[in-house]
Amino acid sequence: MAKSVGVTLSEQMFAGFVVDHALVGELRRFPEDESDYGALVEMHTDALVEMICKQVIEVSEGDTKLDAVGVAVPGLVKNGVVEDAPNLPQLKGARLRDLIEAHLKRNGLMAPVTILNDADGVAAGLAASHGKLDSVIRVWTLGLGIGFGRYPFTPGVWEGGHTVVTLDEKETYCGCGGRGHLEGVMGHRAMRLRFLDLEPEEVFEAAKKGDARCVEFKKLYHKALAAATSSSIHMAGPGKFFLTGPYVGFLDLPMLKDYVQQMVKMSPLQGYSIEIVEEEPETRIIGSAVSAEQAAGI
Ligand SMILES: [Zn+2]
Repeated sequence: MAKSVGVTLSEQMFAGFVVDHALVGELRRFPEDESDYGALVEMHTDALVEMICKQVIEVSEGDTKLDAVGVAVPGLVKNGVVEDAPNLPQLKGARLRDLIEAHLKRNGLMAPVTILNDADGVAAGLAASHGKLDSVIRVWTLGLGIGFGRYPFTPGVWEGGHTVVTLDEKETYCGCGGRGHLEGVMGHRAMRLRFLDLEPEEVFEAAKKGDARCVEFKKLYHKALAAATSSSIHMAGPGKFFLTGPYVGFLDLPMLKDYVQQMVKMSPLQGYSIEIVEEEPETRIIGSAVSAEQAAGI
């Protein structure tokens, strides 16, 4: 029986106790108010580490030894170090695995800690919940940033959210500073910068009512995701793509599929499928725990 804790950091922090790939007991969240998106960005790394460990200890309810703790973060992670995290910039360079492992140990909890990319955690969680732990899946997470996750874990960079989807020199809204990126079109902050007078929700509402500027943007939004998806198909082959995240409700799936169809024409690459799945913190938590178990050799 594998006992692990999964933690995810993105717009909010979630933690849960996972036994044999299923969530046991209540999950914890911080901040409580889900519209308080700024709370995590404003926390110093030490405070974040402390908060993560507090939640791990709380959900494991007195266990002093766990098989694994998986912590999913929105960024580029290598060997337990967060190399970059445009949406949680304070974590850049943090040796998060060592910091969390040491802090847990000081508080009497022994566990091997794995730090993973949050979208990879979602991919692993979807694989576990759809009973597809033996197949390859890719997932786009639409949140403050745009995440790209793969399951099974494969060493590499996989910063798919920063796929270049336009050569327009004016496309400079990506949080990383790069020009022409997917996240520079679809990211929440990028949309706020593009439409200083409208919230993203209002942009898509106005598009429904025929506002020309918003209709144009809606097309750009879907073309950008179609372009990044078709680039992934052309590089790594067809297969299953899941779309999820807090802003997945903006998507018009037939429009997206139509654009992908226009972009992928080679017949051996036609065997792809694209599916929207609702955002559930449980999926991310289980995925983080399962990934950490696999990394710990369980
Ligand atoms: Zn970027």
